[in-house]
Amino acid sequence: MPLRPFLMHSARATRPLRAALAALVLTTLAGTTAAAQPGAPPPADLVVTNGRIYTADGARPVVEAMAVRDGRIIFVGDPLGARALTGPSTRVVDLAGATVIPGMTDAHAHVAGLGASLRNVDLVGTTSYDEVIARVVARARTTPKGEWIIGRGWDQNDWGDTRWPSHEALSRAVPDHPVFLERVDGHAALVNALAMQRADLTRATRDPSGGQVIRDAAGNPAGVLVDNAQGLVDRAIPAPTREQVKASIRSAIAEMHRWGLTGVHDAGASAQVLDLYDELGREGALDIRLYAMIADDSATIARWFARGPADGAHGGMLWVRSVKLYQDGALGSRGAALLEPYSDDPTKSGLLVSAPAHIQEVATRALRAGFQVNTHAIGDRGNRLVLDAYEAALRAVPRADHRFRIEHAQILHSDDIPRFARLGVIPSMQASHQTSDMYWAANRLGTTRLLGAYAWRSLLETGVIVPNGSDFPVEYVNPLISFHSAVSRQDARNWPAGGWMPEQRMTRDEALRSMTLWPAVAAFQERELGSLALGKRADFVVLSQDVMRVPEAMILDTQVRSTWVGGKLVYEQAVRP
Ligand SMILES: [Zn+2]
Repeated sequence: MPLRPFLMHSARATRPLRAALAALVLTTLAGTTAAAQPGAPPPADLVVTNGRIYTADGARPVVEAMAVRDGRIIFVGDPLGARALTGPSTRVVDLAGATVIPGMTDAHAHVAGLGASLRNVDLVGTTSYDEVIARVVARARTTPKGEWIIGRGWDQNDWGDTRWPSHEALSRAVPDHPVFLERVDGHAALVNALAMQRADLTRATRDPSGGQVIRDAAGNPAGVLVDNAQGLVDRAIPAPTREQVKASIRSAIAEMHRWGLTGVHDAGASAQVLDLYDELGREGALDIRLYAMIADDSATIARWFARGPADGAHGGMLWVRSVKLYQDGALGSRGAALLEPYSDDPTKSGLLVSAPAHIQEVATRALRAGFQVNTHAIGDRGNRLVLDAYEAALRAVPRADHRFRIEHAQILHSDDIPRFARLGVIPSMQASHQTSDMYWAANRLGTTRLLGAYAWRSLLETGVIVPNGSDFPVEYVNPLISFHSAVSRQDARNWPAGGWMPEQRMTRDEALRSMTLWPAVAAFQERELGSLALGKRADFVVLSQDVMRVPEAMILDTQVRSTWVGGKLVYEQAVRP
């Protein structure tokens, strides 16, 4: 991969500009018709006024108006002050009392994964096999013959007939496209005849270890492949082309805008995806603040450590200055590494995805190269091992401002909770995981360990920040789901009453910061992003209601009216008649 010139750009270069802007604002406020006077500063490009604007800036938490020039905030305050910056070409947006918050950032998500899932046929919520077939038939009409159709989300437990489906009806309805349909949990797939033919899956094919080919009475594959047997067909599906991946990244960005996201931390980008981000940036098509963590691939990591961090490339759109590692697995599949065995399976205590020595080795090199390390850890043992590895790396290469992160930090031993603040490690947590897992987490962990599970209040009290995220496409894109979970510890139906372990709730103010300012800090962007303050980039969202004041049970009714990145409108809700 050739070295890109964007490495030369740095967010730091903009500091004199910000000082100049601040000076401009002062002069403008001093004169009444500054914009019209010769030698006066040019007028604002955009004025947003008559709103309830939450800034996430402690100095002025709520204002009514804001002005933007060259993509940056040049004024926050009252409508009169903003009007003084209005010129003939200024776009004025009258909010008519609507609520504005800083653009939201998902601090842990998978952008290319979202793009791929948007490309797939969505089968979530289908109530019969016929409905599944109808959705695949509809896709087949717009897909060239012979091309694969991939879908996901069916669940035969939601159908009238809850037995495994067999492929015949699907194969008759869609004879000319190979079809691969993953079950909702990813643990089984339904395929059609052409897919089996392409994959050479026949009566003679034996079940792989850890997998099962469901067969009819005669022993022929019936179309359903369980667990590892999915690989028998999956490996015949060609990888998406570079252009397909690029198109899917663009559709993922559009989807994020729709939900009020102006930034995302991509938790593990491949060399190809990193290159595509850069290409989109050069084309001016990267209109979301992308903080990309380099996936754990030794060649890609070595190349980036040699070239150094990219910090706000393409006019403050792309950051590559961190690495994503994995310590353990997930709680649902009992892969999270625990200090004591699982409460509902004493034979298991989880697994390590990487050796702790690997985390320590990469962390040590990262400190030398000026990169951040963000490691996935779910179980209390997984978290302890990562804290140990970081501690050892920091002993070898002391750095005051490393901002190392643990992604998820889901289950913590009480001894380890204060270590985050002590070591300067940021717990990057996803509030929606708590509300997705609460139905069965007690079975896995027992009640004592629950005290350190999803314990963001306990962490906040030690003085750390807790950036929030969704982990999409594992969870939904809508960031307000995590906002709602953070403040209520309840699911979308507001269950359970009073919240699950409610002593761990965040205040709304904290929850707002957890998706604005704190992700910015966790990404070394707080001088540029995260709050609506003078000199920062003008990223904001207009909402249908005051998410900071409506009753908790109404938070998820909030709609995004429009999304703005650098003062540019990137999404506007269609107006209904
Ligand atoms: Zn993730």
